[in-house]
Amino acid sequence: MQETRILLSEKEIPKQWYNIMADMPNLPQPPLHPGTKQPVGPADLSAIFPMALIEQEVSAQRWIDIPEDVLKIYSLWRPSPLHRAHRLEELLKTPAKIYYKYEGVSPAGSHKPNTSIPQAYYNKKAGIKRIATETGAGQWGSAMALAGSMFGLEVTVYMVRVSYNQKPYRRIAMETWGATVHPSPSTVTNSGRKFLEADPDSPGSLGMAISEAVEDAATHSDTNYALGSVLNHVLLHQTVIGLESKKQFEIAGDYPDVIIGCCGGGSNLGGLSFPFLHDKINGKDMRIVAVEPTSCPTLTKGEFRYDFGDTAGLTPLLMMYTLGHDFIPPGIHAGGLRYHADAPLICQLYKDKLIEAAAYGQTAVFDAAVKFARSEGIIPAPETAHAIAAVMDEAVKCREEGKKKTIFFNLSGHGYLDLTAYADYLSGKLDDYVYPDEKIKESLAKLPVIG
Ligand SMILES: *Cc1c(COP(=O)(O)O)cnc(C)c1O
Repeated sequence: MQETRILLSEKEIPKQWYNIMADMPNLPQPPLHPGTKQPVGPADLSAIFPMALIEQEVSAQRWIDIPEDVLKIYSLWRPSPLHRAHRLEELLKTPAKIYYKYEGVSPAGSHKPNTSIPQAYYNKKAGIKRIATETGAGQWGSAMALAGSMFGLEVTVYMVRVSYNQKPYRRIAMETWGATVHPSPSTVTNSGRKFLEADPDSPGSLGMAISEAVEDAATHSDTNYALGSVLNHVLLHQTVIGLESKKQFEIAGDYPDVIIGCCGGGSNLGGLSFPFLHDKINGKDMRIVAVEPTSCPTLTKGEFRYDFGDTAGLTPLLMMYTLGHDFIPPGIHAGGLRYHADAPLICQLYKDKLIEAAAYGQTAVFDAAVKFARSEGIIPAPETAHAIAAVMDEAVKCREEGKKKTIFFNLSGHGYLDLTAYADYLSGKLDDYVYPDEKIKESLAKLPVIG
């Protein structure tokens, strides 16, 4: 009988992260200062990040040591299991082999603590007392709250107002781990008050919440900012996922032909795929697919150009596929996939055709999620379900073409705190929203022109 779960012992947690920047054919363009539009130096970033993370952000070193104290906390849930989806394969009657890495085993229920833990560690070591950050549906905020509690750091979270009101459970989790949570836009910061002046009923957005958190960090000397996706050091930390997976595939005597991940900012996809991408750059034949919602089609419909990371234009300009930083996404359920752009690393690799992209509507996504739950058991996060929809299409294509491919995806998190989304789907209340091209054009027309 073939194995269902391929497990590693604690001793096999990777001791180093893998830095894709050592191997990319083209490095991403440098971040630019929001005022001068010149490349930012370490000094520009030191107001909100500790030097160790700034160094990782620009490092070209292939392997970077994981600190002992971070490994100790990783061992609370790592290594995570690699599953063979036998029952899903049977359901789809596919000759393909389907595997998934299950990141829902972390205390916060997603891959995000892989980076919140080292971020808290480096900030603590730099003498920082408090972290200010933003969260959409609450996954990143809860990962940061967890990390703060592990290292004795205060955590202040600006949570997108619509989620704060509609999704209380992750807020309660954050408060249980000791964090303070403000609905964003809030009256706590200047940018928050400005957003509220413009629209007192603003539902908030990730871009607005980032503006508030960055302002909070920049105006308090004992406080730094932390970002849960997009930046190079975040994707670096997430490579523990792919590095473990490579060992697990060796045990299984297999290797993926197609790697699929949902893509919000790109951290779970990057973390899963970069260690394999190393082999692809060195000639291995393999596809890597980023899956996004049709309601926030950053890679499939965005433009590759410099844009701000936040709505107020406080952050450096990054070279990304973007829908425009004032993009206000519709209230779709995959909260973690609503960012207006993607990680510069993912964008450059997409530009260089080392990564592909696909977009799915909500109904297809929840169809896939429910089929997965009824075959494999785990109820996936709505974000993750985007990857699952693409996996199922790929597996059905294998059946039609009689191909026995190995398909591998990241089960980035469980959906047990997202059951309202499932309730809406099961009662037929979900619709498919395609973000209109005119609105993307409108938003992009307002971007700064560089060069
Ligand atoms: C945040 C989140 C995502 C999206 O973020 P990425 O940076 O693209 O990984 C995906 N899945 C889950 C479960 C999340 O919490």
